[in-house]
Amino acid sequence: MPGFELFGDKERQQVNDVLDSGVLMRYGFDGMRNGHWKALELEKKLVEKMQVKHTQLVSSGTAALTVALASAGIGAGDEVIMPTFTFVASFESILAIGAVPILVDVDDTLALNPQAVENAITERTKVVMPVHMCGSMADLKALKTICDKHNLLLLEDACQAIGGTFENKPLGSYGDLGCFSFDYVKTVTCGEGGAVITNNDTYKINADHYSDHGHDHVGKDRGAETHPFLGYNFRISELHAAVGLAQIERLDEFLAIQKKNYSVLREALQDLPNVEFRRVPEGGKESYAFLSFFLPNTETAKKAHGELGKAGVDACFYWFDNNWHYYREWQHLIEKKSLGRLPAEVQKQLPDYSKSDFSASDKWVGRTISCLVKLGWSSEEVEERAQKMKKVLSGL
Ligand SMILES: *Cc1c(COP(=O)(O)O)cnc(C)c1O
Repeated sequence: MPGFELFGDKERQQVNDVLDSGVLMRYGFDGMRNGHWKALELEKKLVEKMQVKHTQLVSSGTAALTVALASAGIGAGDEVIMPTFTFVASFESILAIGAVPILVDVDDTLALNPQAVENAITERTKVVMPVHMCGSMADLKALKTICDKHNLLLLEDACQAIGGTFENKPLGSYGDLGCFSFDYVKTVTCGEGGAVITNNDTYKINADHYSDHGHDHVGKDRGAETHPFLGYNFRISELHAAVGLAQIERLDEFLAIQKKNYSVLREALQDLPNVEFRRVPEGGKESYAFLSFFLPNTETAKKAHGELGKAGVDACFYWFDNNWHYYREWQHLIEKKSLGRLPAEVQKQLPDYSKSDFSASDKWVGRTISCLVKLGWSSEEVEERAQKMKKVLSGL
C-alpha cells in the first residue's frame, strides 16, 4: 500500500517546480507561479482516473469526509450510518458538523451489512457511509437500493481502496459522493491530503467554497471575493498536491504491483482448511492493498497474529484488539469525551454505545487477520513471506 515506498525523481521534480516558483498556495498569486497549478492539475487527473465530473482536493481524508457531508447540506442532528469497523475519521467527520454517527454492524465483506443498515434507518437518517476497508468494498448495489428506497445519500469512504472497482466503476464514484485520503501511509500519498469526488455540480461548488472559508472563487482579487456561506480552511497546499501529482501518474503501476504481490500470498494460503478469505461482493474488484482472511475463531486468530509476528511476517493486523479501527476501543466516543460541550442534538441522539450489541461484527472481525500488501517487496521477499505465512497458519 504505501506509495512512499516508491518515491523517486518524479516526486522530486514536481516539488521542485513549486519551490522554484515560491507559491505554496493553491489559489491566487497568478503572476508569480510560473504557470504551476498543481492542485488544479491533480484535480483534473482525478476526474479522469475516477471517471467523475468533479474533484475537490482538501487537506486530509478526514477533511474530505467532513467537506463531503457539509457539501450536501448535512448538519446538526442528521443521522449518518457508519460501520463498526473503520478508521476513527468516520465519526470524527460526522461529529465535526454536528451530525450523529450511528454505528452499524459489518458482515463477511468487512464492510456495512445492508440488512443492518436498513434496520437502523429512522426519520432522521440522511446518509449511509460505507467504508471500503483494507482494499475491498461494501455491497454497493444493495446499499444503493436501500438509499434510493429511503431517499438517502450514499457517501463512499474509499480511503483504503483507491483503484478498486464495483461494476466497473472506480470505488468512490458509485455513490453520490466519494472520499479519498492521501495521507502518508495510503496507496497514493501527498504526505497529507484528501479528495472528494462527485457528479453533482452543487456539491462540487459547495465543497470548493466550504473548504476555503466560504470563498466564492469567482476569479476576482481574493480580497474582493464574497462568501455565500460559512466555511473552514481545509485547503491542500501546492507542495502536497505536487507530490500527489507524481504519485497519481503511478497509480496503475502501484495497483499492478499490489495485485501481483497479493496473488502470490493468496495462492500460498489457498488450500489451507482453516483459512477463509473475506467476501468480495459480486461485481467488485479489490485494490489488493491488503490480504484479509478469517480463521476458525477468535482464539486461533489471536494466536495466528502473535505467531506471524514471531515468524517475522510484519504488517499483519488483528483489528479486533487494535485501538484505531474497531468500536471496542473507541472509549472516547462511547463515553462522549469531548473537550467542549457536544451540540445538544448529539448529546440527545447519540446512542449509548456502552450498551450496544455488535456481536454480529465481532463474529467476523474477531476472526480476521489483514496483511498489508507492500509495493517495495522484491519477488524473493514476497515468496519467502508467503511460505512463512503458510507455515504459521497450517501449524496453528
Ligand atoms: C486514512 C483514512 C481516513 C482518513 O484519512 P486522513 O487523510 O488520515 O485524515 C479515513 N477513512 C479511512 C478508511 C482511512 O483509512
